[in-house]
Amino acid sequence: MFLPTPRRAVGCVALWLLFLLFPCRLPAVAADAVPPSAPSPDEPFLPLRAADGGDIPPLTEEEKLDLRCLLAVYPAVRHIAAESDGSLLLVMSDGSRVPYRSVPPAADDVKATMAAPYPPEPLRPPTPEGVAPGRVRSAALLAALYGVSQADVRSRLSTVPFLQGVVMMHWRVTKAFMGVTERLRAALQQDPSLRPWLKSDGGFAWRRIAGEPRLSAHAYGIAVDLSARRAPYWRWSRLRPHPLQQTYPSAIVRAFEDEGFIWGGKWHEYDIMHFEYRPELLCKARAGKTGGVSPVPSGDADAR
Ligand SMILES: [Zn+2]
Repeated sequence: MFLPTPRRAVGCVALWLLFLLFPCRLPAVAADAVPPSAPSPDEPFLPLRAADGGDIPPLTEEEKLDLRCLLAVYPAVRHIAAESDGSLLLVMSDGSRVPYRSVPPAADDVKATMAAPYPPEPLRPPTPEGVAPGRVRSAALLAALYGVSQADVRSRLSTVPFLQGVVMMHWRVTKAFMGVTERLRAALQQDPSLRPWLKSDGGFAWRRIAGEPRLSAHAYGIAVDLSARRAPYWRWSRLRPHPLQQTYPSAIVRAFEDEGFIWGGKWHEYDIMHFEYRPELLCKARAGKTGGVSPVPSGDADAR
């Protein structure tokens, strides 16, 4: 006959507490319990799992690089699920799934948002019509990383000191943005003439892109505008391209890019005041130079 000793009783209570605390996670773990694909000796490990236990579809080298960068810069992306129709999904830490490669292809899946190569400083190639690396965003990835509604995003904002003022940013971006601030402070000491370019004109703002139905990156708390009076938006100017796309201070752009932010001055539809946290694009750009996924500093401290 089983008689509960005090130690057994404590163990039973602990098990029940675990079950009560995590009842919804158990099926998700079971569904994802297919072993990841085995890495080949000459290829870095990629946590890729067939969602239905079938074959894993072939990936191009560019797709592998995209996925390695997404895993490297966003700790909330846990692994990649491959569907039998050939589509690939990013599986997030909360179990949600974000389309990376859709079948048929979608204009706003994550793969499409990473297709145009972003040129880090000192590169500033011409931006003819159709060239706007990073201007296309995946609404599904932004929602999964930063929040699904205004109230959701607002509940995750932090007030971050920025030179003379403060900026409201999403907590996943706070660390990277503080890194930018430190770099800009050092650049200002070297060159005080940068100061007029560094007036904060807003971080988080729940709004759509001017003239478009899509939500702005500001609505997720991952973007900041600087000195809007000096640094124009394409709809407010007749100049195409704008001379500032070439002459805007490189030290400022570099400070942001080094922390994972892209600059809207590198788009055909330029937004010269605008910087936005898109570390996957900088990771991909630098991997081309270094031959591997480089450690773009990640502000995404997922363990918060
Ligand atoms: Zn902006």
